[in-house]
Formats: sequence, C-alpha cells, structure tokens
Amino acid sequence: MPIRAYAAQSAASPLAPFPIERRGLLPTDVEIDIMYCGVCHSDLHFARNEWGMSAYPMVPGHEILGRVTRVGAGVGKFKVGDPAATGCLVDSCRSCANCRTGQEQFCTAGPVFTYNGPDKHLGGMTYGGYSERIVVDEAFALRVPTNLDPASAAPLLCAGITTYSPLRRYRAAGGRKVGIVGLGGLGHMGVKFARAFGAHTVLFTTTPGKAEDGRRLGADEVVISRNQDEMKKHTGTFDLILDTVSADHDLNTYLSLVRLDGAMVLVGAPPNPLPLAAMSLLFPRKVLTGSLIGGIPETQEMLDFCGTHSISCDIELIPIQKINEAYERLLRSDVKYRFVIDMASLKN
Ligand code: NAP
Ligand code: ZN
Ligand code: ZN
Repeated sequence: MPIRAYAAQSAASPLAPFPIERRGLLPTDVEIDIMYCGVCHSDLHFARNEWGMSAYPMVPGHEILGRVTRVGAGVGKFKVGDPAATGCLVDSCRSCANCRTGQEQFCTAGPVFTYNGPDKHLGGMTYGGYSERIVVDEAFALRVPTNLDPASAAPLLCAGITTYSPLRRYRAAGGRKVGIVGLGGLGHMGVKFARAFGAHTVLFTTTPGKAEDGRRLGADEVVISRNQDEMKKHTGTFDLILDTVSADHDLNTYLSLVRLDGAMVLVGAPPNPLPLAAMSLLFPRKVLTGSLIGGIPETQEMLDFCGTHSISCDIELIPIQKINEAYERLLRSDVKYRFVIDMASLKN
C-alpha cells in the first residue's frame, strides 16, 4: 500500500508529494506512525546533492518521532501506542567491533542511514521521515521520555545526539570553557547541553540579533564572530570548541582561541573543503577532530538525560507544504532554532 511522502526528484527540483512503500513487518520490526519530523541542514545538503552522494528520488528526514502502530511477533521493547523515535540510523551489521561497542554510525560494513542508504529489503534506497509511517527494527528505535513535548523532542534524534556526544567525549563540564559556533539547530542544542553539563559556555554567532536568545538558551557569554576585537579577547582560552557551521568559514580563527592541548570538534559539514594552516595546530599544540551523530546506546542515554533534565528543542512547527521555504530560510540562518514538520499536514 503506497503511503504519502515528500521527495526531491533531482538536485534542482523542489520537494513535492511522492507516494512510497514501506516493507511488511518482520518479527523484530515496529511500525511508527510519524507525528513529527525535524528538518536538519543535512536534509538540505542531501536533497540538493551538495556532498555529491545523493540518489533520487530522495525522501529526507531523520529526526522522526511518533507512535507505534504495529509490532512484529518478536518485539519486546515496544507495544502498540508507545511513543517511539528513529534518528539517522535504521540498521548496521551489528557484529563488527564498532557495532558491538554501540558505535553503529561507524559500522565497518557501512551503517544503513535512514534515507539515501541501501535498502536491503525493498531494493533501491531507504526513505526518511518526511512521510506518514516508517518500519524499523526495534534495535534502531528509541524510547522517548513522556514528559517532553513530542514536537520539541523530535530534533533530539539528530541535533541532540550530534552535540551531546562530542560534548561528553571531549568533557564539557564544570571548570571548563566551551565554545559553540553557530546558533542553528545543532548549535542551540550545543549551548543547552554545554550549560547543562556545567561548562562555562560561550556562543559564537554571525547574527547579532541572536545574542539575546543565546543567553536565554544558556550561554554565559555571546561573541559576535565577525567582530575581530571581540574574538581576540578569547585567544588561547578555550578547552573545547564545537563547530556547527554549515557553510564556508575560517577554522584558523577559531583554532587560535583554543588553549594548549584543547580541542576543536567539527560537526558541521560544509560542502567545500575548509583551508587549514598547519601553524594553527602547532602553536600552541591542540587537537582538531570531528564527530558523527552518535550510536544507539548513547542516543538513548541522551534522550533519557533530556527527560530527566526537561531539555528539548526550540522549534518552529511547519506544515510539509512549507518545506521548500524552510530550506531557503536555513540558508539565510533564519531558523529559531529548528523547523519541525507537523506530519498531519501530509493529509492536507
Ligand atoms: P542550521 O540550523 O542551518 O545552523 C547552521 C548555523 O551556522 C546557522 O544558523 C548560522 O548560525 C551558522 N552559519 C551559517 N552559515 C554561516 C557562515 N557562512 N559563516 C558562519 N556561520 C554560518 O544547520 P544545522 O541543522 O544545525 O546543521 C549544521 C551543520 O551540521 C550542517 O552542515 C549539517 O549537515 C551538519 N550536521 C552534521 C552532523 C554530524 O553528525 N556531524 C549531524 C547533523 C548535521 P549563526 O547565525 O549563529 O552564525
Ligand atoms: Zn541531521
Ligand atoms: Zn557493524
């Protein structure tokens, strides 16, 4: 039975209605009726083939939250009616060293991404969350704390875990000075988590109009990154900088703010290579690294942490018919701070 979805048919075409199929339920599958799906900047990079690895038709969406409508005979984690979520991953080999340590995003056989990944059941490519329903193995479905507003919790599945994971790994904590670069979907969650972990949190933004929101979201300080004098005051003082920027920008300036043996972590994935001066890493010695979403156990840990601390995303709810407009606004850094699609609008 075809279901409703929105797809891009090419890198140049806007997203438009496109019926898709979901697989029949396998014994360990759950079927999730999608209530909300967040709009990640990666959806835009993928829909427009900005990374040169897109296949069409493409149904984006990997911040998926809804309710379980059917379960396979062998499912133990969910029952019909439970809230459930799926992020960027729907499968992996489950046996390689990385899968066994809960780092399925780095599966050596290749993780199966929620969209634009090889679909071993139906052939072709996987289709994401800009759709009515999804069928996913329960091992890749997450439990959602019931105290969180479901629409505001949906973007935790990517924006949340992508910032939580490196902030934990590189120790955003009390007594440490942590910078978050860019106040978009990822950045606003980076600010919330860094603050929740007790770090002295500094937001770098190119948009002066976001300074007040930055403080409200948890930043102790806000730096307008286009102001070189303001930037220079922080030279060599950061233990950690998390860079969420989606477009061309100067890494070297941010590296100059990192202290001896501090770290800068890239999570933003601009399509063009970014120039790096070796000297930026040598003096004083520091680490430049990257981070990709998070594995399933850490994603569940992040959701549970958000439930305990009542953390969710600041969202703008849109109908699916506004998706192309939302992409244009993302390009103008005009989102406060995550678009979430109300999937009921698919029926309009
Ligand atoms: P977003 O909501 O569009 O936010 C990006 C922010 O970057 C903007 O709001 C803006 O913040 C800043 N920015 C944009 N253009 C800039 C420029 N030219 N120079 C400096 N700053 C600029 O995007 P998102 O959904 O948070 O995603 C951010 C990036 O992370 C994307 O590249 C996405 O593909 C990537 N991503 C990576 C992972 C991963 O696993 N590593 C996961 C999800 C997303 P200000 O207005 O505050 O300057
Ligand atoms: Zn994403
Ligand atoms: Zn694996």
